[in-house]
Amino acid sequence: MAEKVLILKYGEIAMRGNNRYLFISRLVSAIRKNIDDEGDFYVVKEQGRLIIESRGTEIDFDRIIPKVTPIFGIIAVCPGIKTQDQSMENLRKLALEQMREQCSDKNYTFKVKAKRADKRYPLSSKEIAADIGGYVLENTDNLTVDVHNPEIVLNVELRTDAYIYSKLIKTFGGLPVGSSGKAVALLSGGIDSPVAAWTIAKRGVEIEAVYFHSPPYTSEWAKQKVCDLAERIACFTGGIKLHIVPFTDLQLYLLDNVPHDKLTIFLKRAMMKTAEIIAERENALALITGESVGQVASQTLQGLNAINAVCNMPVLRPLSGMDKQEIVDIAKKIGTFDISIRPYEDCCTIFVAKHPETKPKTSVIDRIEAKLSELDGFIEKAIEDTEVVEY
Ligand code: ATP
Ligand code: MG
Repeated sequence: MAEKVLILKYGEIAMRGNNRYLFISRLVSAIRKNIDDEGDFYVVKEQGRLIIESRGTEIDFDRIIPKVTPIFGIIAVCPGIKTQDQSMENLRKLALEQMREQCSDKNYTFKVKAKRADKRYPLSSKEIAADIGGYVLENTDNLTVDVHNPEIVLNVELRTDAYIYSKLIKTFGGLPVGSSGKAVALLSGGIDSPVAAWTIAKRGVEIEAVYFHSPPYTSEWAKQKVCDLAERIACFTGGIKLHIVPFTDLQLYLLDNVPHDKLTIFLKRAMMKTAEIIAERENALALITGESVGQVASQTLQGLNAINAVCNMPVLRPLSGMDKQEIVDIAKKIGTFDISIRPYEDCCTIFVAKHPETKPKTSVIDRIEAKLSELDGFIEKAIEDTEVVEY
């Protein structure tokens, strides 16, 4: 009896140390979250890897592989075969089947790599590799052996069961989420901020997202977009908490009380202040934004200074040195681009200055803001009325 299995390899280095078991169980729950809707599966912990096996029906690789490749901490995904019968006769037959299936379209070079956990197995790893390699070579006519630089490595691993696999899909890598603490990402419906959140999550940082919603000036579609973006990011991280903060009243207060050309700077500062309070309450240690130097009027170094001045926490800006095209390329690769570019009418033109200040002086902004006696009250109220959604 042989059955299809999916072998997931994780980065050993990230998994060393005391938290190893915690990280592995986080990986398992991220996997479960992404595949549980697709059927009934076991996720088995084997040394240095996780194995997905189907309970009952045969595993459908085309459906399951895209669900597990995004998860941070996994470095490669290998569709393969598991068998209990470790006789050379059976291993030869399964290896040949596997190679025929994978290599039918053209000529390939290959080598066999064998491992045996049980040293009592009658053949050495080298002998197993030579035997199976010879057999595959004899029974195919489009394969040649190249031990130094093969296109395909046929792996034969003898453990409690035997595993055979020849396809290795490299994934994003990264560190398992949760291994580097927590940060709060300011998530708008744009292209940049989801890429920023993703980039930091990749380093093992658990993400909570904050979205500032100003109905009716921003539509329900805009909110839905942010929800969909958060849900997409959750595929990489095994889950995300999204705080939807009602910002209309605060925004109208600013509109009435600050110079129009500086409105964006004040609004961004209010967002940062609010996000920082939420971050403190959620035990997060940093903020994340999608700002990129020079991209828009408020993202000059002067603008960033004025915005940053209200924060005590580090603000991570992973896109600060990237060109728009580089950001777009990542957004496409991670599946957020199509959500971000969905059209929706942005009806907040009353909040947009014709000639926004591009070189605000922090001292001037501070002085004006000191007179906004109701600002902190609006921030507190917005936090109180925040809606929390978990994906
Ligand atoms: P994005 O593509 O992420 O929307 P942007 O290029 O439009 O960014 P800005 O509008 O200046 O740039 O916003 C800069 C950053 O401020 C965003 O990347 C995001 O982190 C944060 N931000 C802006 N608007 C909101 C919002 N409504 N809710 C939450 N965060 C926001
Ligand atoms: Mg934007």
